[in-house]
Amino acid sequence: MAIARENIKTICFDFGNTLVEFGPEQVAYQYIALEKALTELFGSCDPARLKTIRDRQIVAPFSNGYREKNIRSLCEELVREIYNIVPEESQVAMLMRTRYESFINIVELPDSVPLLLNKLRQRYRLGLLSNYPCGRSIRDSLAKMGLSDMFEVVVISGDVGYVKPHAKPFETLLSQLHLSPSECVYVGDNWLADTQGAKRIGICAIHTTQYVPYESFEPIEGDYVPDARIDHLDELEELLLPRFKE
Ligand SMILES: [Mg+2]
Repeated sequence: MAIARENIKTICFDFGNTLVEFGPEQVAYQYIALEKALTELFGSCDPARLKTIRDRQIVAPFSNGYREKNIRSLCEELVREIYNIVPEESQVAMLMRTRYESFINIVELPDSVPLLLNKLRQRYRLGLLSNYPCGRSIRDSLAKMGLSDMFEVVVISGDVGYVKPHAKPFETLLSQLHLSPSECVYVGDNWLADTQGAKRIGICAIHTTQYVPYESFEPIEGDYVPDARIDHLDELEELLLPRFKE
């Protein structure tokens, strides 16, 4: 094990595909909800066209200097590209609400997660840092699952303006926690956003492969390797908590 536990004060988590599943099934559910809303508002919507645009929007920040788009402009862009019209404010609001509600509805918390977080927080401070264009979706999802009080700090890319692996979201997290990188462990599923993002600024990274993500990035030559790899979140207990009193 390469993690110097005695220096670590805080464990920070990614959200989708780390604490909760947000893979092909969850994304498909959101796309169907959007298709229904678009059809109601503007008429028939080709699901393949919708999927092509949404899939492109999901990875767009990774080829745009890691700049995050806000949820409003993503919804406007979707209507412009499918129907070639500029949507009215009320129509954009309905699409934003559809995305928000479908996210809140589809995300489920495994029973094991609060149990694990409660054990970890007896020894560590906990934080959450997620890439998502809508901060409210993540915060309200945490509240619905009873996790709001679990994390001392919650940082969302939509609020920061940049996505991981950009340094800004990680720096925001550290500054809100008043910590240096060496005092923090970051747990995430995304090789580029989470493992490379954390390692590049000196945060210890644990790579989890518990869930199949919707979008993924393969390792390339020169990449950092994670400090540990886990197949299930529950392995953190063994990795981060001493079995006996030290
Ligand atoms: Mg993730």
